[in-house]
Amino acid sequence: MTASTRASFTADDYRARMARAAREADAAGLAGLLVAPGPDLVWLTGYAPPAATERLTVLVLVPGQDPALVVPTLEAPDAAKAAGAPALSLRDWTDGKDPYAVTAALLAAAGRFGVSDNAWALHLLGLQRALPDSSYAALTDALPMLRAVKDTAELELMAAAGAAADATFEEIRTVAFGGRRESEVAADLDALLRRHGHEQVDFTIVASGPNGANPHHEAGDRVIERGDMVVLDFGGLRDGYGSDTSRTVHVGEPTDEERRVHDLVRAAQQAGYEAVRPGVACQEVDRAARAVIADAGYGDRFIHRTGHGIGVTTHEPPYMIEGEEQPLVPGMCFSVEPGVYLPGRFGVRIEDIVTVTEDGGRRLNDTTRELVVVD
Ligand code: ZN
Ligand code: ZN
Ligand code: ZN
Repeated sequence: MTASTRASFTADDYRARMARAAREADAAGLAGLLVAPGPDLVWLTGYAPPAATERLTVLVLVPGQDPALVVPTLEAPDAAKAAGAPALSLRDWTDGKDPYAVTAALLAAAGRFGVSDNAWALHLLGLQRALPDSSYAALTDALPMLRAVKDTAELELMAAAGAAADATFEEIRTVAFGGRRESEVAADLDALLRRHGHEQVDFTIVASGPNGANPHHEAGDRVIERGDMVVLDFGGLRDGYGSDTSRTVHVGEPTDEERRVHDLVRAAQQAGYEAVRPGVACQEVDRAARAVIADAGYGDRFIHRTGHGIGVTTHEPPYMIEGEEQPLVPGMCFSVEPGVYLPGRFGVRIEDIVTVTEDGGRRLNDTTRELVVVD
């Protein structure tokens, strides 16, 4: 990602996002939000500094005040080029000045502030020194749904990222699997995602045979053999918005048991998808998928939550998990990705990104969910 911003959003879009964030902070009892370089800052302003550094950059959103970006003087020209820059004031500071004092001047002395999850401890401690009576909450804890509901333009970008991931699957299913290392197929996935427009690849899981039983396995030296089930799970960012899809393929003809387990996961994925509609709690999506697997006697082999939100990052709230009572809202985007993992043998996972519509859900991945036989 470069310091420049995508043309998709205007200063007015960013102004509206910052205003909403300040309103939500107020409603949550916070005196303001402190947003460090990272996905929250990109979403709120379009500004992505090349890297977070020991020089403080922070967006200050305080209800009733104009948004302000505290930025090192030498980075101010870049920040001024961000698409959201017209919607905020730049407060630059030069080396030798105390950036925490510059920031503290914008804040209530005894306020409680939401801080983006990835802010450096160095910077938070500096602020605490400048405002000893202040207190802080992690942004994801305080406003978990801030970025969850996507607008029309964002949904178009999400759909385009999903289509690019689908095009990647359509090509990878035609390459040779048997006799090659997982890492080689993973490299193919990386290249295909980039060829289909991804500027960032976050993961290219190729988990063959017994490795498929470990949901955290990425890709290694194992040579894929005929008879292997292979879990493929890949995604990243395309035009700043995320893709994430899983399909499980088989090298050569599968056994009856492999087909049966794959059919089971497919039915669970379908049930999770069909549970999606506005007002339904996130946990209901998890329950719907999990019930199918539990009823078939594999409940203890489905060892992770059913899904996670996705947007300007590939993993974020809302989470489709027991205990999450957040109701679904049109425009939310998240994965539905049940799996069954048989230790020492194989695993199956099927994953689509789904967005909530006015009357149900719409899949942003739509390659076949039948078991694909590869060479
Ligand atoms: Zn097999
Ligand atoms: Zn995935
Ligand atoms: Zn996922």
